[in-house]
Amino acid sequence: MKCTACGSSSLVIGTIMGGDGTSPGFYPSDTPSLKRIFGIGNKAIQAYGCVHCGNLQFTVQFSARDLERYQQFEGEQPDVLERINSNPKKLDG
Ligand SMILES: [Zn+2]
Repeated sequence: MKCTACGSSSLVIGTIMGGDGTSPGFYPSDTPSLKRIFGIGNKAIQAYGCVHCGNLQFTVQFSARDLERYQQFEGEQPDVLERINSNPKKLDG
């Protein structure tokens, strides 16, 4: 991985942690609010600090199930209703 700001590959891997010792997680916007309240469905965040310019960037750790779910749509992800009503058509060779 390279720094998105300066292109350096000198990145220090770490985590983001609050004063109370908790680590924030990433919640996809289609995660039901009840699940968010109870901390269910969050994805771990990996942080990378650039040694050269101080830029801080993140990656999210999706599970294999998440990838399967989200990669069926290219580009901007549809909302829940669009997802339910959609019928992705396969291109005929
Ligand atoms: Zn940098």
